[in-house]
Amino acid sequence: MSLAFIGLGSNLADPQNQILAALAKLKALEHCQVTKVSSLYFSRPMGPQDQPDYMNAVVAIETTLSPLALLDKLQQIENDAGRVRKEDRWGARVLDLDILLFDQQLINTVRLTVPHYGLKQREFVLLPLAEIAPALVLPDGESIVTLAENIEKNGLKVHSKLS
Ligand code: ATP
Ligand code: CA
Ligand code: CA
Repeated sequence: MSLAFIGLGSNLADPQNQILAALAKLKALEHCQVTKVSSLYFSRPMGPQDQPDYMNAVVAIETTLSPLALLDKLQQIENDAGRVRKEDRWGARVLDLDILLFDQQLINTVRLTVPHYGLKQREFVLLPLAEIAPALVLPDGESIVTLAENIEKNGLKVHSKLS
């Protein structure tokens, strides 16, 4: 059994409901058990600023799936939510599901980089992670809580509890 952390994000088509619907789908995945759910956060967009604010959350999942099999399931959920992949990086999207961590594994393949390459620079990932897993330490030895305390908050706010 592995422990994975998944980041959820949405800024289109009723983001709060997108996150709730994605959470329900994650809970229904075979070979996966959602064990922790963060609060729902409001965050400012990265990259292009001419798009709505985001809602973000992070969940912990215990799974017997491989990292790539989990990615397949997450991309299926994104596609089912109507995500259209566009050229512009970090543009608006109905649903984004990223694998942040998969146990203490280091993965560097074409389809998958784990830990997620942006983890340490993103307040909307670090704060929810620290909320649900304060004891978590990254493979490089850095503490999530320390990273979360030191990052610029960029207007991040808790919106509500998710469960
Ligand atoms: P960012 O990766 O900066 O958060 P993004 O989430 O908008 O940007 P996407 O268009 O959703 O990027 O994903 C592009 C590709 O990234 C995916 O097709 C996937 O194969 C790859 N990828 C690499 N590492 C990961 C990971 N840890 N979790 C999810 N996708 C990943
Ligand atoms: Ca992302
Ligand atoms: Ca993504």
